[in-house]
Amino acid sequence: MKNAQCKKCLKKFYEKDIYTIQQFQYRKTPTYEWSIKYFKKLGIIEWDSFCEKCMSFYAKESEKRWNESNI
Ligand SMILES: [Zn+2]
Repeated sequence: MKNAQCKKCLKKFYEKDIYTIQQFQYRKTPTYEWSIKYFKKLGIIEWDSFCEKCMSFYAKESEKRWNESNI
């Protein structure tokens, strides 16, 4: 049963396919600490569920923002 829901696009999907911002602790930049603060401003916490598509959207957006703030 598809009982997980993406917080951004509201699409339903399987629980095993849940993505959270916790995956960003494995990327080098932006730092995870920065990512947590960035997403907090967007109203997103570590336990919010997202689909793969929206997570990759946020991955790109946060990277862009990080690069802009570190010129
Ligand atoms: Zn989504």
